[in-house]
Amino acid sequence: MSGLETIHVDGVWRAATAGDTRDVLNPADASVLATVAEGGTEDTDAAVAAARRAFDSGEWPGTPTAERAALLRRVADLLQRDREEIALIESRDTGKTVEEGRYDVDDVTSAFRYFADLVMNESGGRVVDAGDADVHSVVVHEPVGVCAMIAPWNYPLLQASWKIAPALAAGNTFVVKPSEVTPLSTVHLMRLLVEAGLPAGVGNVVTGAGMPVGARLAEHPDVDLVSFTGGLISGVKVAEAAAPSVKKVALELGGKNPNVVFADACATEEGFDTAVDQALNAAFIHSGQVCSAGARLIVEESVRERFVTELARRAERIKLGRGTEKGVECGPLVSQQQLDKTEDYVASALAEGATLRCGGKRPEPSDVRPASGYFYEPTVLDNCHRGMRVVREETFGPILTVETFTDEDGAVELANDTEYGLAGAVFSGDTARARRVAARLRHGTIWINDYHPYLPQAEWGGFGKSGVGRELGLTGLDEYRETKHVYENLRPSPVRWFAG
Ligand code: NAD
Repeated sequence: MSGLETIHVDGVWRAATAGDTRDVLNPADASVLATVAEGGTEDTDAAVAAARRAFDSGEWPGTPTAERAALLRRVADLLQRDREEIALIESRDTGKTVEEGRYDVDDVTSAFRYFADLVMNESGGRVVDAGDADVHSVVVHEPVGVCAMIAPWNYPLLQASWKIAPALAAGNTFVVKPSEVTPLSTVHLMRLLVEAGLPAGVGNVVTGAGMPVGARLAEHPDVDLVSFTGGLISGVKVAEAAAPSVKKVALELGGKNPNVVFADACATEEGFDTAVDQALNAAFIHSGQVCSAGARLIVEESVRERFVTELARRAERIKLGRGTEKGVECGPLVSQQQLDKTEDYVASALAEGATLRCGGKRPEPSDVRPASGYFYEPTVLDNCHRGMRVVREETFGPILTVETFTDEDGAVELANDTEYGLAGAVFSGDTARARRVAARLRHGTIWINDYHPYLPQAEWGGFGKSGVGRELGLTGLDEYRETKHVYENLRPSPVRWFAG
């Protein structure tokens, strides 16, 4: 496989049919990291045709569950074998630190192992009581068919794997399109799937842009399911393109996630330190380019000044730099576009009356921070309110807005006042209050006295405009399965509904 052969169709690595290419940039210095194939409609159609053949006449859908599970476990082992290499690829491609890349590889390894275990532990069909001894009635699961997967740039390996692992466990075939901004780890993952023994045509990769590759996958009549992770605007387009062929659609979209901090969480020094530290992590890990980032701090008015002062002090000390450098805590934004967007949001917030507590600009270049990199300082904006664009929209950058409340109802009302509903957190020293508030928050994941952890065995996804469907957990497997009811009459006889 040469550098340009990043399209994988029917077991063969190749360049784009039209010969087009795309430079993939390193966000730490804007240098060209790799040049990959820029696939088009023809490449997409070829990949779908391969996946279709592999599903309709190949062996994979009928392969015994134990063999499919064994393949997923081999992939998990190979991911661990290549852990350092993949972490480095992910760091260079997305800008995140290598340590974050290692976390991603470990998380993805767990996901492959989880779905292998899940299908192995199933007892097969569910026998239902038809209320008639002469009827045997059973509900079984079957693979959906050809799955199209469209992934974003912030967690490329992880988002692709959350789709590929359950799809393969269930017996589907797939075509995956990584983000054109960060395609490299998905290409590596496909190589591992081949090494693990995945039959030709079962897994296919098309590197290329949303338009035409993603759009063609979404509308393609031979695709049975499209699973999309990305922004709201693209997600709506995917749903529209998928509608005429009535395929299954799963959407994992953005978030504007509240982090609610009650004064009683800060009653002790330890509690205060924990809540501040978690708020920092919630907002600024991966420079805020996380769908579940705790970008809205909703803090009780009585502790606001002390809390925000300490938060800003610590945010100013975050070590920004190239993700591959030792000692660096936070990398650059992924692209010039994200940098421009961040600058625009901060400017609009200040124009609307927010108070800048720290950040708000690009940092001085240094030996770990080239001037050509897309760096932006972690930014805390105080005195924000719900009417501001920076509070309502997903900024996907290192921006934390601060709003305040004076009672529990006010906190809940603020935290639920978003068109999204992906994730949120509540910090409180009062367990009953924390659980009460968690029960009232309309978001797909709620953390109590923590932020960001997730488990492969627990569903991930959003309320409202954060999406449709769930990844991970049993529901994440069921996304990739059809349910069939088989009703068997053990003593057949005429119905005699019609007399003639
Ligand atoms: P994006 O919507 O720009 O792109 C996502 C993917 O869709 C890319 O592969 C892109 O090429 C493709 N695409 C773009 N237009 C398309 C179209 N018309 N038809 C089909 N495909 C198209 O998103 P992004 O900027 O890559 O990622 C950031 C977004 O992803 C944020 O909104 C973030 O919240 C979201 N995200 C959500 C989750 C989650 O689990 N809910 C996880 C990670 C990222």
